[in-house]
Amino acid sequence: MFERELFSTGHEIFRETVRRFVADEITPFHAQWEKDGQVSCDVWRKAGAQGLLCATVPEEYGGSGADFLYSVVVLEELSRAGAMGPGFSLHSDIVAPYLVQYGSDEQKRTWLPKMITGEVIGAIAMTEPSAGSDLQNIQTTAIRDGDEYRISGQKVFITNGQLSNIVITACKTDPQTGGKGVSLVLVETDRAGFQRGRNLEKV
Ligand SMILES: Cc1cc2nc3c(=O)[nH]c(=O)nc-3n(C[C@H](O)[C@H](O)[C@H](O)COP(=O)(O)OP(=O)(O)OC[C@H]3O[C@@H](n4cnc5c(N)ncnc54)[C@H](O)[C@@H]3O)c2cc1C
Repeated sequence: MFERELFSTGHEIFRETVRRFVADEITPFHAQWEKDGQVSCDVWRKAGAQGLLCATVPEEYGGSGADFLYSVVVLEELSRAGAMGPGFSLHSDIVAPYLVQYGSDEQKRTWLPKMITGEVIGAIAMTEPSAGSDLQNIQTTAIRDGDEYRISGQKVFITNGQLSNIVITACKTDPQTGGKGVSLVLVETDRAGFQRGRNLEKV
């Protein structure tokens, strides 16, 4: 094995924490989660308490503002253990950055601190039964209705879909303008009308 120079001492100390966490809190339960088709909510809160979630979120929103290599360490350690059940990376490295980059200040203050602690689990819903790579062909619409959007559509293959509290959802807000009319709408899963489907075998 060659020595990697990418990671600092700080990253390697963090790696030890993550490796121990994976050994104690994930590996012993992973086979059962695979049978159940979902991981426990409990492990998300424990991961949050150990600082494993949303490492790069800025301090003003309760994060540590760490560099992306801290997220890479989490991903590497989960991969090393073959523990692909917990969707920490999607939550921390896709959903949280969308919120940081494009969310309103109110959305950031409401959701990011709870995503960091694992109280709130994030998902992103783009894929549909008839639209995968070709995202501009999505059929889900979000039509403005006063101060709200009325969303209508179906999504599939959504990582963290069964546990998520918020779902960043790709919707057509202007169906006449093709790809340019696609927006991302933050959907709280306790909203009336939100329904989860059955688990699908993805891998
Ligand atoms: C483990 C897993 C987790 C996932 N999590 C999520 C999630 O959290 N949120 C979400 O929204 N989706 C998720 N997905 C869905 C995933 O993003 C889609 O499967 C992906 O976008 C591809 O769509 P598709 O399966 O419909 O394939 P298609 O788009 O139908 O593509 C089929 C094949 O054709 C190729 N292809 C497509 N278009 C072209 C082109 N123009 N030129 C050349 N080749 C092309 C593709 O590379 C692929 O090999 C997940 C999928 C998996 C397997």
